[in-house]
Amino acid sequence: MATLASSHLNKGIKQVYMVLPQGEKVQAMYIWIDVTFQSEDANSDVYLVPAAMFWDPFHKDPNKLVFCEVFKYNRKPADTNLRHTYKWIMDMVSNQCLWFGMEQEYTLMGTDGHTFGIKIRGRNAEVMPVQWEFQIGPCEGVNMGDHLWVAHFILHHVCEDFGVITTFEPMPILGNGNGAGCHPNFSTKAMREENGLKYTEEGTEKLSKGQQCHIRAYEPKGAVDNARCLTGFHETSNIKDFSAGVANLGASIHIPRTVCQEKKGYFEDRRPSANCDPSAMMEALIRTCLLNEMG
Ligand code: ADP
Ligand code: MN
Ligand code: MN
Ligand code: MN
Ligand code: MN
Repeated sequence: MATLASSHLNKGIKQVYMVLPQGEKVQAMYIWIDVTFQSEDANSDVYLVPAAMFWDPFHKDPNKLVFCEVFKYNRKPADTNLRHTYKWIMDMVSNQCLWFGMEQEYTLMGTDGHTFGIKIRGRNAEVMPVQWEFQIGPCEGVNMGDHLWVAHFILHHVCEDFGVITTFEPMPILGNGNGAGCHPNFSTKAMREENGLKYTEEGTEKLSKGQQCHIRAYEPKGAVDNARCLTGFHETSNIKDFSAGVANLGASIHIPRTVCQEKKGYFEDRRPSANCDPSAMMEALIRTCLLNEMG
């Protein structure tokens, strides 16, 4: 099986450079969402504006990873910068103290594009062999997307060192089986308070009217790939139908059993694909559940 050339390199060599003194200086590695699909050739320069800062696990303290928003030559957000409007929408509902927690599924592959046959089982292993999941959050406000994008970056980087590839493709293995999703768990302050369950249910009721809008927002290609996942089989709902249920992984919206027992808490939207943009996904949820815009 082919592996990345870099996985065969002697990692000890890197250490020689890592221990060089850096004095008072701090190195910031900028991370941003690619804009290569834009074709305004004459004005292809873009502005990177720092949005969130993280500890850099590769270059260690005091160095930083800096997640940036991208703006075009005319200072308008780049087409891939969905964080900009999302932040604006989020600010409108900041008094509701939103929490988001994501379940990000991903698939490990060899560099030749084949998945391994080994059966990985572990705390985070998923239904399909070679499929894994990590959870982020709950995060308040606009932070969630920043954490998720930087987690993607770190995962890609680590996999490179181990000679494997991570893919966030919703259906990486051809055929009929489990796809990969990125499921937001969502709550407001009112939902988390005593007897908040009625607000949780109110939210899912509103979502039942906006199925088409949500499906479009939940995958970069507007549902082309997600349609192959959301078949109604393999712990998914059908892309054409909306459903909500307690402890039901076959529903579009899943209300955990503990939330029902405690009569307060969050719900999970099981429709977004693994490669969805978190800003687009969260914006759609806020517009429907809190601003009554969709449906
Ligand atoms: P599951 O049992 O559905 O696989 P996981 O443990 O994988 O659940 O993921 C649950 C997610 O829900 C985590 O990302 C967690 O941060 C998030 N979460 C927990 N409580 C809340 C809450 N009140 N509001 C929003 N998200 C929450
Ligand atoms: Mn999970
Ligand atoms: Mn899962
Ligand atoms: Mn899930
Ligand atoms: Mn879940």
